[in-house]
Amino acid sequence: MSTNLSIDFSSSFWKAKYLLIDSRMLTAPSQTIFFALSGIKRDGQDFIDALYSKGVRKFVVTADFDKGYIYKDAAFIYVDNVLVTLQEVTTYHRELFPQLPTIGITGSNAKTIVKEWLYTLLEADKNVVKSPKSYNSQIGVPLSVWQINEKHELGIFEAGISQVDEMQKLQKIIQPTIGLFTNLGSAHDKLFDSRAQKLEEKGKLFDQCQHIIYCRDHEEIHQELQKKKGIAFHWGVHKDATLRIEAIDNQTVSISFNQDIHQIDIPFKDEASFENAMHCVAVLAFLEYPFDEINQKLKFLKSLPMRLERKEGINGTVLINDFYNNDLGGLQIALSFMGQHQENLPKTLILSDLLQGHNDKSALHKKINELIHENEIERFIGVGKHLMQYQNEITIDGEYFASTSELRKHIRDHKISFQKEMILLKGARQYEFEKIASLLQRKIHSTRLEINLDAVVHNLMFYKSQLKSSTKVMVMVKALGYGSGKHELANTLQYHLVDYLGVAFADEGVELRENGIRTPIMVLTPSPDSFETMKMHQLEPEIYNLELLEALKDFLMEDEGDQLFKIQINIDTGMHRLGFRKEEFSTLLATLSRIKDKVKVTGVFTHLAGADEEQHNSYTLDQIAQFKNLSHQLEEHLGYTVIKHCLNSAGIVRFPEHQLDMVRLGIGLHGIEVNHIKQDDLQTVATLKSVIAQIKTIQKGETIGYGRKGVATKEMKIATIGIGYADGFNRRFSNGVGQVIIKGKKANVIGNICMDMTMVDITEINASVGDEVIIFGPELSINQLAQSIDTIPYEILTSVSSRVKRVYYLEG
Ligand SMILES: *Cc1c(COP(=O)(O)O)cnc(C)c1O
Repeated sequence: MSTNLSIDFSSSFWKAKYLLIDSRMLTAPSQTIFFALSGIKRDGQDFIDALYSKGVRKFVVTADFDKGYIYKDAAFIYVDNVLVTLQEVTTYHRELFPQLPTIGITGSNAKTIVKEWLYTLLEADKNVVKSPKSYNSQIGVPLSVWQINEKHELGIFEAGISQVDEMQKLQKIIQPTIGLFTNLGSAHDKLFDSRAQKLEEKGKLFDQCQHIIYCRDHEEIHQELQKKKGIAFHWGVHKDATLRIEAIDNQTVSISFNQDIHQIDIPFKDEASFENAMHCVAVLAFLEYPFDEINQKLKFLKSLPMRLERKEGINGTVLINDFYNNDLGGLQIALSFMGQHQENLPKTLILSDLLQGHNDKSALHKKINELIHENEIERFIGVGKHLMQYQNEITIDGEYFASTSELRKHIRDHKISFQKEMILLKGARQYEFEKIASLLQRKIHSTRLEINLDAVVHNLMFYKSQLKSSTKVMVMVKALGYGSGKHELANTLQYHLVDYLGVAFADEGVELRENGIRTPIMVLTPSPDSFETMKMHQLEPEIYNLELLEALKDFLMEDEGDQLFKIQINIDTGMHRLGFRKEEFSTLLATLSRIKDKVKVTGVFTHLAGADEEQHNSYTLDQIAQFKNLSHQLEEHLGYTVIKHCLNSAGIVRFPEHQLDMVRLGIGLHGIEVNHIKQDDLQTVATLKSVIAQIKTIQKGETIGYGRKGVATKEMKIATIGIGYADGFNRRFSNGVGQVIIKGKKANVIGNICMDMTMVDITEINASVGDEVIIFGPELSINQLAQSIDTIPYEILTSVSSRVKRVYYLEG
């Protein structure tokens, strides 16, 4: 590994508020250093031009970047390894605060939740700096640590690793003084030789800690952590535990500590939350909080999703919900998430007080004001006493409320209203902003399709990793993006530099353009009367037969514009759906000659009929061979090269040697590998959810639903759920063919599925009205559903009807 010992990190170049690695997160250009990281996701150097034009003037690049001279007034630092430099400058920064007590959290699970809970518990008393979201990687940790300033009294940072040798680096950057080990699970097992090795690696975070906190009941963890020089402070039922659990009665735990017995109420029932809460109790006890105070504080903990969500609101608004913790780092991330999903709506921020134990409240509110201006917030609503008191620091007109209930009252009484705006709801836990969200959310239907945008990116990167770096990718977003959304999905794909998008009809393409999508778009089934529109919006029609070609010629003869109309040619090599056949080829070429001053053929392609099935291999190879031959003839005739493409998702996995210039990715992006070869490399994107509307007990012999098809074979408990065939829950799942998941358990469909509702058997499940029901998702795959009704996953995905709300989220 290369180090950059020659860099003087105390020089003025390194004075910057923000270290940027993701160009979307840009807020204050003049106070930013951009690190042009290159990874499988993208090459950071591709963004320098755009960032420069937005005002960024400091860049860290590798020595091979040879365009620095173009940017006259910008400063470039040339290094061997940009990531190493990022880690070194943040290590340097950390060393400027040697006195800062810092908790370093690692373990297989629950790092983020334990960190966020600790923050919730401590923020009122101390000025705490913490990792935003789950920033725990080789990149996330440096960015987290960079936030430290002289005002902070405690740091809480999480560290996650996926391979050996990573933890030493994170240890150097965080330099924790107190270690906290959550647990050891099986995640990432493939990457380590053994559990012992994994444990040893993770433990390296604690090499310099003075104290180490963990659960004493896991012997292997104890054995490993005992080797450290730090003093153990543990909890558990083990007789040696520092905080020894004497008894658990319901949710009340009796703990003996320093010869006294204390009672603590854990506000959760499930085992994982219990363990996480106990880690927090241990930290507070270690920090010498009295137990009655610990008990009071625990009441603030709630299990809520910690992710950022985008939802449809009332009156054409879009809501971004983020109400877990509220600190400056998290606020900045939420604001930039809003920036990425702006969709041409004006931006509104509803913010609660930041409960940071900041002594200098005026400085804190000045910072909030900076973020408001940097992110072009047009409307500001503040909730809480501090925001009211310091409203002069916030220099855009604002509306202020002392409490959430006061704001709620104003919304209910129509004294404050929202129209066509994008609203970020960012509140600290105590402010219960979910209650504001429930007033602003569109409540048409409780059934929803949740789209995990992180999984979309993961899957895209997986397919890219199967390809040469020069091969372009077209993502097919026809049929509402395989059911998963239009511009919301396209936005993510555009950001990740997908080369082309494919839609079925011209109006789908127009809609994407109107929502700010600039990526080239191919239209699969264009109609002649939309040529004008397509040309205007730079949509490239697929020309697939002589008739359409004639219509194109007629259109072009009348067209006065001097811009070339870009088109793509489809050749039928055996799918027999659309496309020119071999015998039509000479007419195609002749006609193209006649319009050659008006069109530019950008691409030529064919579609494979059986790329996913081995039995058709020779047919597929014959299709590809024919295509290579015909596309070559086309290029010869045109006198220029065009983008040649033939592989769909299945083809990318099975015939990568024929990737040609571009591939067309469809179902794979959604986490479904139709060959079943690489399924484990993909992540599930869509989860279809509903809720229980009613529960009833049915006696033996009674019947359930239309046609009395469901018969109770014994006394049964039946739940009616709010999804039916009109939502896309296929009627063929009726009468026990289909299952749903409630509280982690499978429940059989009983009787016939109705238009808007379905009855399921929950005799063995302890469920209540309002509980979540999963129709498909990571726990119940679309593949399984498709098999059980003898169809293909494509149909299951695309038949989720448009009345089902789509919710997009990032795990953060
Ligand atoms: C839908 C479509 C694809 C994508 O197919 P998947 O099997 O979903 O990968 C590729 N090419 C064309 C022409 C298509 O219509």
